[in-house]
Amino acid sequence: MIAISAPPVHHAVRSLVVGGLTPLSTTDYPNHLSAVVFCQGCPWRCGYCHNPHLLPAEGSGQLSWNDVLSFLDRRCGLLDAVVFSGGEPLAQNGLVEAMHAGRSMGFKIGLHTGGAYPRRFAEVLPLVDWVGFDIKARFAEYRRITAVRGSGDRALASAMLLLGSGVDHEFRTTVHPHQHDSPGLERLAKDLSELGVRNYVLQEFRADGCADTTLVKNLPISFLTESWCAAIAPRFTSFTVRRA
Ligand code: SF4
Repeated sequence: MIAISAPPVHHAVRSLVVGGLTPLSTTDYPNHLSAVVFCQGCPWRCGYCHNPHLLPAEGSGQLSWNDVLSFLDRRCGLLDAVVFSGGEPLAQNGLVEAMHAGRSMGFKIGLHTGGAYPRRFAEVLPLVDWVGFDIKARFAEYRRITAVRGSGDRALASAMLLLGSGVDHEFRTTVHPHQHDSPGLERLAKDLSELGVRNYVLQEFRADGCADTTLVKNLPISFLTESWCAAIAPRFTSFTVRRA
């Protein structure tokens, strides 16, 4: 009897859905001039998100990936890197091809991610030169920030992949004074340092773009004080505070 196996299932690869483009940035990839490609779509719903227009899988202000490629082609030799940001770039299966295209033009590849899709993260890590990895909270408390069950497990799996990859990176946490307090940040810093994180950044919440009006009201001018950071800094080889 001849066994007939089922044909393999192929999931169609779409071109990257792009929700925006910053033609020149000095801050999105450390010490590099980069273009930033904002990928459309994110499975998480952080209240402090300052790109809420990028959360749906389709947006109103989309750019064609071919137009982005033409732009990048004209920037060869002028820019060092292309950074894929979002939204959550890992949400799209077109990311792999897009990164290959960027590399073939001679750009370094940067990635901003929260690690929502560990399997795709493992797939793209060999193509990436630098990762900015967002840590929302202690992994057991992720849902409080992302509003999605299981998000902390996914982030932890991706963080472990990054730490084991040898790819240059930073871990960073956006701090909102209504969502984080000093003891909570100290516990988070302890978790991360024990996981093997060496390069950590705390960045103050920025109100621009945030759609949650309750998070924008009555904000202190600056809340990441010296006393908040004093117990955190010694845990890391490199520790930085980015003010709003
Ligand atoms: S993971 Fe990032 S893009 Fe997605 S909702 Fe949170 S802050 Fe916004």
